[in-house]
Amino acid sequence: MADRRWKIHKFGGSSLADAECFRRVTGILLDCDELRLGVVVSAMGGMTDVLINLAILAERDDDRFKKELDAIGERYSDTSGSLLDGDSLVAVLDAWGQDASDIMGILTAIARVKSAPQRSRDIVAGYGEIWSARLLAACLEQSSPQRGGTWIDARNIVTVRQTELGPAVLWDVSQAKMDKVVAADFEGIAVITGFIATDEQGLQTTLGRNGSDHSAAIFAALSGASELIIWTDVDGIMSADPRLVPEAQVIERLTYDEAMELAYFGAKVLHPQTLGPAVDNDIPIIIRNSRNPSHPGSRISAEAIAADNIKGITAIGGIALLNLEGAGMIGVPGTADRLFAALKNAGVSVTLISQASSEHSICIAVPHDVAELARKVVTDAFADELESGQIQSVEVTEAQSIIAVVGDGMAGRPGIAARFFGTLGRAGINIRAIAQGSSERNISAVVDSKEATKALRAVHSGFYLSAKTLSIGLLGPGGVGSALLRQIDKQAERLRTDFNLDLRVRAIARSKKMLLGDTSIDLGHWQDVFDADALEYNLEQLETHINPDHLPHAVIIDCTASELVAGQYAGWLERGIHVVTPNKKAFSGSMTDHARLRTAARMGNSHCLFETTVGAALPIITTLRDLIHTGDTIRSIEGIFSGTLAYLFNVYDGTRAFSEIVNEARASGFTEPDPRDDLSGMDVARKLTILARELGQDIEIGDFPVQSLVPESLRDCSIDEYLQRLPEFDADFHARYEKAQADNKKLRYLARLGPDASASVGLEAVDAKHPFANINLTDNIVQFKTDRYADNPLVIQGPGAGPQVTAGGVFGDLLRLAQYLSPGA
Ligand code: ASP
Ligand code: MG
Repeated sequence: MADRRWKIHKFGGSSLADAECFRRVTGILLDCDELRLGVVVSAMGGMTDVLINLAILAERDDDRFKKELDAIGERYSDTSGSLLDGDSLVAVLDAWGQDASDIMGILTAIARVKSAPQRSRDIVAGYGEIWSARLLAACLEQSSPQRGGTWIDARNIVTVRQTELGPAVLWDVSQAKMDKVVAADFEGIAVITGFIATDEQGLQTTLGRNGSDHSAAIFAALSGASELIIWTDVDGIMSADPRLVPEAQVIERLTYDEAMELAYFGAKVLHPQTLGPAVDNDIPIIIRNSRNPSHPGSRISAEAIAADNIKGITAIGGIALLNLEGAGMIGVPGTADRLFAALKNAGVSVTLISQASSEHSICIAVPHDVAELARKVVTDAFADELESGQIQSVEVTEAQSIIAVVGDGMAGRPGIAARFFGTLGRAGINIRAIAQGSSERNISAVVDSKEATKALRAVHSGFYLSAKTLSIGLLGPGGVGSALLRQIDKQAERLRTDFNLDLRVRAIARSKKMLLGDTSIDLGHWQDVFDADALEYNLEQLETHINPDHLPHAVIIDCTASELVAGQYAGWLERGIHVVTPNKKAFSGSMTDHARLRTAARMGNSHCLFETTVGAALPIITTLRDLIHTGDTIRSIEGIFSGTLAYLFNVYDGTRAFSEIVNEARASGFTEPDPRDDLSGMDVARKLTILARELGQDIEIGDFPVQSLVPESLRDCSIDEYLQRLPEFDADFHARYEKAQADNKKLRYLARLGPDASASVGLEAVDAKHPFANINLTDNIVQFKTDRYADNPLVIQGPGAGPQVTAGGVFGDLLRLAQYLSPGA
């Protein structure tokens, strides 16, 4: 059976400002398929102010009220005219004309006696809601004659008693009227006026400024609604003020209590008291944006979500701290009592209280503008103790702000305060005072106002972005670097939605220029922006930019082959910046430098990932580490570590000269611009060094034989001369080839690593059946012999070079890094 429970929607003045808004609201409501909808409306934006002003003008006998009333009429008929046609337009405007003449009567009476009784003001002020309701009901009827057309005058239902604390609803009376006015079998959309009500004497009254939220909550209670949806112009309740915290996000679900705490601390989307009737009846409240109806908004209900910790962070500025200090207070009952009595008598409200268990001092926070008053009354109250020295001082510190984290889930959950104060500490912010209520729903810290925004951002990132947001700087957007940027661009959305991972490339640097982006650089068009906006290259500036207070993790991806950049890793790691790179230089240089990287990473609590330095995206280092960490013993590592050399010897079949093949490979981009960089074997030697060090071997280039395929006499000449003279050595290569062929072997350039640093790199003839002899063109192949893989070695084979695969490998390292950083992963 269809759900017969009501759903109550409420649209405020800003959602009903003009014809466009009415159309939008009509659309939203007709999209809802509930059987019974109640729609509480405010006056069109700004209308109530104008109406109130009419009474003020009339009271002064200023006859501009007539013109103002005409202006209202114009606005209303313009709006209606563009929404309605024919009879329904005529009906709405006729009704308005009738109201206008009633208003005119009231205003004229006011003008005559030059005084506006509250009742008259209330009547005038309340027309805005009637006009909205009538117009919206007509719009709905026009689009859906079956569902629309009904509007309800709340004055016939909501009955209140005005008290000093505001209107108190007379529930029994209101309920009885509700049941009479609204048919029990009503189906469709009933538009209801907000703001206005009737008092005990049966006269019109209002629920106070912005009272429509209250009306909506009252109707939700009276109708026993399943939900109350408050439509406004923001996406929901935010985790922090978005003007101060760029990363603020909409809180999906929160409890009434949390909403209350956040509302108190300035997240002024709702007014907790006014929503009381919904809260008391356990009706979930949903905050949604009428200008962005596809956003689900924030859902506020009694239900706490166990897995959550904090919900929002707020800052209130304009606070002063008052500190009462002295040994005479220790163990003396009544000190606090006297302090608060003095403040109460002076009408000073206290925002925060903190007393250490030594009882040596009590510290309170008060609004800045009553700080002087507070000091005076407290000094007076403790005049005797101050004189006798039992209390040393009453000190006031101005220009303070309270930063508070709020959330039901904090209760009984260790670590929240640690994270809160830890992030403040990391951002270098001094805390003056701390308070946590025993409900544990709120932890507050007092900081200097000039640091409040920084504090807010740091804390926000500590809770919301932690482990999930990486601030990335990329050096060297060449072949690999730019392929990586494209891959990140393509995957970013999916990583965000599926894994909550937020990769923000915020800096891209080439040798002379760099581009810095605020939230992140648009990777779809970074090249154009780079050309237009790049700054002078400055590594220090880049580092500061990618590692700011408000983002939790910074990574530098080094896609250069630069030794200079590699020299920076230790410093970065020490300062907590992670490094991901395919650049071999730092790991194959001197042993001392390499060891320093490890210490630096430990000091900075950072990670350095370089899987791609050996076989691009092939999982060589990862596999090796897994073997070692799971207790296997490595007996040997052997393989072909150079795609270029693999290619040369795969293609070389004795029919063509070796020099010809080198030239051809160079032309197709399979070699470095200077092929000697490949043929010298240095690249392979570096990779072998990296693997040896993973095994814990203390090894450096130069410690083991590396057979260079560059003839001695050609090592120092120009590239051109090298290429020109290479044919002189073709015969040598041919002879080696013939010899291998005769033994049924193949020439392969191999790297070998045994136990005890017995490493070597060089050209060998391997059996034609050996796996090394049978690889695809530019494949790398690595074979691990271990205690577990003794007879049948573990082999990893595949393309070990090329921008796409290498970039993919670097990307993989980046994701691995993110995993290390998520505590829950
Ligand atoms: N129209 C009324 C006001 O502006 C009530 C409301 O908007 O909630 O105060
Ligand atoms: Mg309003």
